[in-house]
Amino acid sequence: MTRTPQPLTVQAARDVLRGAKLRSTTSRVAVLQYLAAASKPLSHADVSEALVPEGYDKSTLYRCLVELADAGLLARLDAGDHAWRFELKGGEEEHGAEHPHFVCIDCGKVTCLPDVAVKISPQKKSTKMGEVTEVFLKGHCKECV
Ligand SMILES: [Zn+2]
Ligand SMILES: [Zn+2]
Repeated sequence: MTRTPQPLTVQAARDVLRGAKLRSTTSRVAVLQYLAAASKPLSHADVSEALVPEGYDKSTLYRCLVELADAGLLARLDAGDHAWRFELKGGEEEHGAEHPHFVCIDCGKVTCLPDVAVKISPQKKSTKMGEVTEVFLKGHCKECV
């Protein structure tokens, strides 16, 4: 029930950046590669924890995440705890940005649900809903049950 990690080579990461009209910097490449290898959405803290020891700057990493999200390469998710989580938008349907996410209300872990389709069909034309951009399911994860 997690996203399948698809490792990205440096060259592939550069191509992705070029495709989004972003200059390829080592930090951007590192962030893209790290998110590509992840099986769940990651926060700035998660990314920093992994990449700061490798010599990357914490605030530069944050800027990279925001720039990549603004360029449409990353999905930005808010699970309700005021910490943005980022994940690489996949080209293929199964890993696209449209899959729902599961949030554990005990430990706060966020999991991707690429295999779950959630369809919201209001009975009457709803005036309360603008545009639905994210679907979050809440509950207890396997470890917390
Ligand atoms: Zn949990
Ligand atoms: Zn996801």
